[in-house]
Amino acid sequence: MIKLFLDYQDTDKQLLAIEKELKGSQERKDYALLKKSVSDANEQVQKLDRECEELIHSYNKTKGAVDKIIADVNELTEESQNVGDSVEEYDFYIKNIDKLLSQLESMEQELSRLVKAMEEKRKEFDKLMDYGRKITVKLRDAQAKYRELESSKKDEVKAITDKLASMEKQLDETLLKTYKQLRSMKTFPVFVPRIGDSCRGCGMELPQTSLHVLQSAGDHVECPNCHRIVYVD
Ligand SMILES: [Zn+2]
Repeated sequence: MIKLFLDYQDTDKQLLAIEKELKGSQERKDYALLKKSVSDANEQVQKLDRECEELIHSYNKTKGAVDKIIADVNELTEESQNVGDSVEEYDFYIKNIDKLLSQLESMEQELSRLVKAMEEKRKEFDKLMDYGRKITVKLRDAQAKYRELESSKKDEVKAITDKLASMEKQLDETLLKTYKQLRSMKTFPVFVPRIGDSCRGCGMELPQTSLHVLQSAGDHVECPNCHRIVYVD
């Protein structure tokens, strides 16, 4: 049984080598980097969008306040015209109108500041969209190149996976499950020989209970430290 597993592991090693080659390729790195850039740009667009929304909200609020003051000034102006000869009463109106007008001035300044800020955001937005379009084109290009590399390995990968699938039929199910689990956790090789009293995988000395199981060729036990399958050569 161990012999079959070792053959299986050897074949699987070829598949791992291809996976590693693909993962470490420049094509994959370029693709990953551009993917990150596009996602960063999207995040920035969303942030700008939120900032613009806040500016619009402030603008509308200030605009509402300005309209209210203008209405108040108009009302006071109208009322002041109905004041008779009372200087005091007239002064009251003038003072209040002046106060409102100075409030109006600062609010209008605030409005123009908000308009300017919105224009700036708009420029930033256009620039970002332009950049986004450019890197999206680059991303598509990098993706195509990576897919090309991937498909250049397709036949090789298929031949190996087909071979693995046919080998699996003869393997012990439980051990195969353990194998696949460890492989998916990037523990490889999964089957390692006993070297002296130690596990070849992690170098740890095996406990007596494990050593007791490992008597003759083909005997195997799980390493309590790295969980690889230690066998007797
Ligand atoms: Zn170990």
